[in-house]
Amino acid sequence: MSALPPCPQCNSEYTYEDGQMLVCPECAHEWSANPEASAGKDEKVIKDSVGNTLQDGDTVTVIKDLKVKGSSLVVKVGTKVKNIRLVDGDHDIDCKIDGIGAMKLKSEFVRKV
Ligand SMILES: [Zn+2]
Repeated sequence: MSALPPCPQCNSEYTYEDGQMLVCPECAHEWSANPEASAGKDEKVIKDSVGNTLQDGDTVTVIKDLKVKGSSLVVKVGTKVKNIRLVDGDHDIDCKIDGIGAMKLKSEFVRKV
């Protein structure tokens, strides 16, 4: 098992395989065991509500009214959101919406323009 690369985060040599992923027991970092797959494309593919692949800089529209957490604002269905940035997490789109400001959206509630 000496073929496994060290952890890219903390350089631990005690990495192990977990399916398609490599896992570091020291810092709990997980990454893809297949460098070719991850080198060709950016991390994970994020798709909109109809299955279009989203990319940084895309423009999307919101497909349902979305309440803005911690405020009384609502992002109305049909709102155009320019220059999105894809991020990790439950809400996988980082963006700035006119009249509302910076917020995060879920890709399942948008559609690429
Ligand atoms: Zn590590």
